[in-house]
Amino acid sequence: MNILANKVAIVTGASTGIGYATAKLFAKEGAAVVVAARRQTELDDLADSINAEGGRALALAGDVGDEAFAKALVDKAVSHFGGLDIAFNNAAILGAMGPVSEMSQTDWNQVIATNLTSAFLAAKYQLPAMEARKGGSLIFTSTFVGYTAGMPGMAAYAASKAGLIGLTQVLATEHGPQNIRVNALLPGGTDTAAGREFANTPEALAFVRNLHALKRMATPDEIAQSALYLASDASSFTTGSAMLVDGGVSINRV
Ligand code: NAP
Repeated sequence: MNILANKVAIVTGASTGIGYATAKLFAKEGAAVVVAARRQTELDDLADSINAEGGRALALAGDVGDEAFAKALVDKAVSHFGGLDIAFNNAAILGAMGPVSEMSQTDWNQVIATNLTSAFLAAKYQLPAMEARKGGSLIFTSTFVGYTAGMPGMAAYAASKAGLIGLTQVLATEHGPQNIRVNALLPGGTDTAAGREFANTPEALAFVRNLHALKRMATPDEIAQSALYLASDASSFTTGSAMLVDGGVSINRV
């Protein structure tokens, strides 16, 4: 039996990278998925490929920083698939990089809105739907940056992602009694568009790989497997955690 049989999931940031791989894996494991990002064509292609493979998927394009979109995703999950059990809130941007003294408030606000306020909005609408199902798994994609490592030039990103860990802890305590588990997933360097944006020269790529104890970046599929663990009953006693899946980047001293 597929481990997400009869479950309904929302996956954001599904047009590429970790979200794309996770949407495919959740669907393969039996979940009906509502896939979200801003790019309609990529989302439609993903939903078509899942449906063609015998899964169930629905695409909805929008901005995760928009409250109406956060609500619409939950409404779609409920109206098309009957409810909501799992939410992988994964969409994010690296945003403006550089010293804080040179960062505009507009750039700062954009990162916080996309990466952190989106999580508040998502939880606001996802939690009642999960309560109606008498349980669920809420997952936020955070990162080791701002948790186990300070990295110059990444203030807004680090602050937004560290904020997710605080949000995770509070929501886990608030909603544990309703059997809703809330966890943050902290990938290491992962070979996606965002990973390549950060490591954008051969030298930078070699540097980033070498930071990890495993001397490589993750594939999106490896991170998707960890999201599957947190989504499924295999992690039934895991809540409030900041789960590092980071190839040892947090403990490595090169
Ligand atoms: P990616 O390939 O750049 O994917 C980011 C996704 O987020 C895309 O699907 C993008 O789709 C979506 N997105 C961005 N802004 C959005 C918005 N305002 N509204 C809706 N969707 C939006 O990045 P990734 O590497 O897979 O990253 C996934 C998650 O892992 C992120 O939370 C990232 O911070 C985290 N992470 C990544 C790494 C890494 O090394 N790659 C390491 C640690 C943590 P559209 O452009 O179509 O909107």
